[in-house]
Amino acid sequence: MKYCKECGFPAPYGKFLEWTSDGTILGNDEMRTRLVYLDVDELSHLFNGISKWVERPIDKIICQAEKTVGRRFVETLLPGFLTKIPKGRFARPEPGAKLVGNYMFNYMGGLGMGRAVILQYQSGKYAKVKITNGHSIALIAGDGAGVFEYLERIRVHISWVKAGSEQYILELTKSGDEAEKETEIQPAKEYVKGNAELEKCPSCGVPLLITRNIYLNLEKGTLRHKITGVRVVALPVESFNAVMRALSREFGEELNDFVEGLERKYFRENFVPIKEDQGNKHEAIYSDFNWKGIGNPSGLVQTSTGLEVTVLNPFHPQAVAGRVAGIYEASTNTAVRSTANEISPGVLKVVMEPVSR
Ligand SMILES: [Zn+2]
Repeated sequence: MKYCKECGFPAPYGKFLEWTSDGTILGNDEMRTRLVYLDVDELSHLFNGISKWVERPIDKIICQAEKTVGRRFVETLLPGFLTKIPKGRFARPEPGAKLVGNYMFNYMGGLGMGRAVILQYQSGKYAKVKITNGHSIALIAGDGAGVFEYLERIRVHISWVKAGSEQYILELTKSGDEAEKETEIQPAKEYVKGNAELEKCPSCGVPLLITRNIYLNLEKGTLRHKITGVRVVALPVESFNAVMRALSREFGEELNDFVEGLERKYFRENFVPIKEDQGNKHEAIYSDFNWKGIGNPSGLVQTSTGLEVTVLNPFHPQAVAGRVAGIYEASTNTAVRSTANEISPGVLKVVMEPVSR
């Protein structure tokens, strides 16, 4: 991996990703894959909370929903020459598939998704992979299955077992002759124009706030906040949304409101204010939204008793609404009643009023 001479951040970041003024982080691939930085604990808080709420494990649903997204990773992010070696009825030569697999895993490590090593690989039949420091084993398993199905043009069954404190063994076994039908690929999205200003490295274009705040340990495949030590992961937004869509199909639309509550609780309990030299206190508490790709907090209006926050292009409206309220509660040490509405596509308004006690 090459690093930027100016800011020291891995060079591929600046090459593949663009931090826009709309509060989004977009890949330069055909799909304009959008990424968002989330806390790894936030993800497990969400998945565990949902699982408790519906009183059953949800790993299989997460994994299945992630599979198509995983496949899309390969299609849009891998150099053409790697994916265009023999496919279809001809078995792909093992070294080629291993090469593609390792390239993918390296890329995932750079996003903070942990490290993976292919232990066994039998073209068209079976693969065994060791995952260390994975951000979410169900998501990684889905990615792995998607990639394997794409490369081998077969259907696979996937299972995993815990092999250590931060280790899993993943097994992919052929279960059918044809890969699952691809869900329709969405065209690149349009975003609402925002007003985020991010000072960027003159050499690689990565915002200085990223290099100042995030530490990448490529060997471990982890990203951590340099000041708080909190582990984060850069997740494709479509991953998150595909999983949430699958879960709400299964458990009902009210799941999204439940997600809002979970996010709110997580941030109320875990928000760590970072001192940045900004005049407005309220602006400061939401200032990481832009570089994390959460959305663009474009307007903050102090009402007589509370606060109104407008966020453009939220990566998931309910998750962002919960985050906004939870951070406000944590930083003001008050309980609030909040109402969130998407007043037009891509424009989320959250109104918060203190609850009188
Ligand atoms: Zn740089």
